[in-house]
Amino acid sequence: MTQGYPLHRRQLLGAGAAIALTTLAGCAGPGTPSARGRVVVVGGGFGGATAAHYLKLWGGDGVEVTLVERQAEFVSCPISNLVLGGFQTMAAITHRYDGLRALGVNVLQAQVLAIDATARSVQLADRRSLAYDRLVLSPGIDFMTDQIGGLQAALERGQVFHAWKAGPQTAGLRRQLEAMPDGGVFAMFIPKSPYRCPPGPYERACVVASYLKAAKPRAKVLVCDANAEITSKKGLFEAAFRQLYAGIIEYRPNAELKELAGGVARTDFDDVKADVLNPIPPQRGGDLARVAGLLNVNARWAGVHWLTLESTAAPGIHVLGDTTFSAPGMPKSGHMANQQAKVAAAAILQLLAGQPVNPAPVVANTCYSFVSPTEAVHVASVHQFDAAEKTFKPVPGAGGVSAAINQIEARQAMGWAQNIWADTLALA
Ligand SMILES: Cc1cc2nc3c(=O)[nH]c(=O)nc-3n(C[C@H](O)[C@H](O)[C@H](O)COP(=O)(O)OP(=O)(O)OC[C@H]3O[C@@H](n4cnc5c(N)ncnc54)[C@H](O)[C@@H]3O)c2cc1C
Repeated sequence: MTQGYPLHRRQLLGAGAAIALTTLAGCAGPGTPSARGRVVVVGGGFGGATAAHYLKLWGGDGVEVTLVERQAEFVSCPISNLVLGGFQTMAAITHRYDGLRALGVNVLQAQVLAIDATARSVQLADRRSLAYDRLVLSPGIDFMTDQIGGLQAALERGQVFHAWKAGPQTAGLRRQLEAMPDGGVFAMFIPKSPYRCPPGPYERACVVASYLKAAKPRAKVLVCDANAEITSKKGLFEAAFRQLYAGIIEYRPNAELKELAGGVARTDFDDVKADVLNPIPPQRGGDLARVAGLLNVNARWAGVHWLTLESTAAPGIHVLGDTTFSAPGMPKSGHMANQQAKVAAAAILQLLAGQPVNPAPVVANTCYSFVSPTEAVHVASVHQFDAAEKTFKPVPGAGGVSAAINQIEARQAMGWAQNIWADTLALA
């Protein structure tokens, strides 16, 4: 049964402040009618779907927009931790691409295998190819499973689930939690930063602990963190661990997962035996960006020119979201991917129209985290393009975190989720 807050449209108002800032990112205004061309967008997650939405919305009939996504439906990582806890359903975080289709975006369900940057075309797994004038890539993350012995095999056998891409992984981990005995141990392993959604693992620890506290009161949550300390909203998560989950959550810093063998997880210092193991693997930019030679920062992330999000490795290809080498202080979040998509969409339309791009974009981010099904906290930041350093930099004093754990923000977090899904996918 779904507990906590249902997802009602009326709750959108609470997220208004956070999402209203997204309009700052667009800056090209409502339409660039002289833009003409074909834009192919690969990846229908937060970055790619938003880019397709705004390219069509602002570009109009002159711009042919094709979105290529391998999955039939969009499944949101934000709110997926609540699904793990049994407080929301998979249906609540799953959305269709019909809104984009209704807007005139050509949505193709297909896997892109390769990019020919010289010929300006992408090759699909079904042997079709699509020509483009500008290409947008937002393929998300892929996992460096080779860095942890035994991990790939354990994932393939379905013995462990990372649940760091929402979908079958989320459902699999939920099943394991439901089957876990009272008095059992759920052990999660956080990779070294940078990784997708800095506060996400600590939110997961809290939400799973909340479920166990009610359903299996003798069970424990062990959080093994490869980082030296909590990487986001530290004081607030420490307060949650202490005030809400004393005796349930144990937090171990500097505990990097090295190997999984025979149901035992080896960290730097300990062997951990647990009823449910949840390794979150180290991450890099999406495989497609790697195959296309775009991961030119530490062979891990894609460097971009921040005014246009155009790759520093290949002209004509714009890279968004988690795959990018983040600007200083910029989180890998769905909200940020959505913002970057608007900067890129506006710039692409200007470039197609032969016009100069906006020289001073501003983007914003808010990440809510549930610490129980009815309580949440947030971190917010504003990022302004710095012409001298050619990157986005956080605006001093323009962000912040919650003063304390509170219930109002749990309602606002649900409003934020509804709003960003609607904004990303052009939901009616
Ligand atoms: C547990 C959890 C909680 C989170 N909570 C929040 C939150 O509260 N707020 C927030 O802002 N962010 C949150 N995030 C982070 C957020 O999910 C990501 O930052 C966001 O999804 C990044 O968007 P993206 O477009 O880069 O990648 P994605 O949204 O992952 O989209 C990538 C898409 O590309 C597709 N794709 C990849 N390769 C190909 C190919 N070759 N051909 C066709 N399609 C392809 C994939 O199928 C996928 O749909 C959370 C993440 C997790 C794991």
